[in-house]
Amino acid sequence: MIGPMTLIVALTVAVMFIIGAVLVRKARREGSAARQTIACQQCGTANADHAKFCAQCGAPMSV
Ligand SMILES: [Zn+2]
Repeated sequence: MIGPMTLIVALTVAVMFIIGAVLVRKARREGSAARQTIACQQCGTANADHAKFCAQCGAPMSV
């Protein structure tokens, strides 16, 4: 027998689960957006924007 309290608890758990999933997705999206890359002027390889040298050819990255 499923009482009203069981339904409320199940609904609360479901809502919290959905909110958690949305927050995780949002955090992941912001994290990937913040991770920007800059292209090497020598070979065009995408490097992290804080890289001092190209990971592919070793050319110094101009900032
Ligand atoms: Zn390069």
